[in-house]
Amino acid sequence: MNPLHLNDILSAARTIAGTAIRTPLVPAPAFAAIAGQPVLLKLETAQPTGAFKLRGALNALAHLPPDAKGVTCCSTGNHGRAVAYAARARGLKAVVCMSALVPQTKVDGIRALGAEVRIIGRSQDDALAESRRLAAEDGLVEISPFDDPHVIAGQGTIGLELLQDAPELDTILVPLSGGGLAAGVALAAKAIYPAIRVIGLSMDRGAAMHASIEAGRPVEVEEVESLADSLGGGIGLDNRLSFALCRDLLDDVILVREEEIYRAMQALYFEERMVAEGACVVGIAALMAGKLPRPKGPIATIITGRNVDMTVFTRVVTGQDVTLGDHRIEGRPYAA
Ligand SMILES: *Cc1c(COP(=O)(O)O)cnc(C)c1O
Repeated sequence: MNPLHLNDILSAARTIAGTAIRTPLVPAPAFAAIAGQPVLLKLETAQPTGAFKLRGALNALAHLPPDAKGVTCCSTGNHGRAVAYAARARGLKAVVCMSALVPQTKVDGIRALGAEVRIIGRSQDDALAESRRLAAEDGLVEISPFDDPHVIAGQGTIGLELLQDAPELDTILVPLSGGGLAAGVALAAKAIYPAIRVIGLSMDRGAAMHASIEAGRPVEVEEVESLADSLGGGIGLDNRLSFALCRDLLDDVILVREEEIYRAMQALYFEERMVAEGACVVGIAALMAGKLPRPKGPIATIITGRNVDMTVFTRVVTGQDVTLGDHRIEGRPYAA
């Protein structure tokens, strides 16, 4: 039984209004030429924390037990920043646990909001274990980045806004990691317009939700460095909500290569003059690589965040090589 309904998402929209921004949906003509249909970008980069995760975090913090002493979470960066922001607004303590793979710019952004940061191990699983330990031992409330009904309902408000602003949408492209975003958006969009297609996109190395849907149950994947660092990490072997929702609601999950993400970051920058994380451009990457099914109407993709490491970003847009662990992306200047 699906424990979440459109009503939960409508209620989340009221809860987060005023703090999370109702973000613009803007046309991207350069990509429409490739798609043969209008392409719309949902600019979650405009959120005060630079990423959509503020929606879920605000909704989750609004539902804390009244005696909560504080909150803790694991994060690839953007959820931690969102939780830190929401906790500060309520005068609550926040402890954010992250692996050493998280870019320094994200760590700095979280500390600047007054949260305590703990760098634990080399994977999101290590960070999760620490966050659970803090919840058990220190009485902090753990807020999952994706496997929490209030977080999923909060992210789902993006789906509401998409269909309010573009009721004729044919396809929504959603960057996919733990699946809180994709689950919420698909739930909202399909409740309003059941025939809409919602496609999840991940990088081809370490795509935990894709591997889990293929296997029919949550599985572990090896976590490696990626241009789409916000999409790294597992979905939790004890996943309660986001796995089943993504499995049941997503029409497809498509994987893109690091080289395709690199090209898409360049294209978004030069064609639309936008600075965005690798995680945001996976939809555009799939479009440019000809990996999407043919749309019959407008496509929207969610530009999920802009908290990119500027050293890496500068290398990408100037066409230099980028080294990610043992994977090397050969640089190439952008040419339309
Ligand atoms: C967290 C995140 C995602 C993926 O969201 P999930 O709910 O984990 O699938 C995509 N893009 C950015 C920028 C993120 O921070």
